[in-house]
Amino acid sequence: MHLAVPTLVECGNCGNRIMPHRVCPKCGYYRGKQVLKPEEMA
Ligand SMILES: [Zn+2]
Repeated sequence: MHLAVPTLVECGNCGNRIMPHRVCPKCGYYRGKQVLKPEEMA
């Protein structure tokens, strides 16, 4: 028995590997929309 490895998806904006249904921490996009300001996360 082993733990399930979560499937990562590519951010549609920057191509960063991210968890599904999560905002991309790199560019702040989620499903094609910018929901965070990346300049504030740099
Ligand atoms: Zn991204």
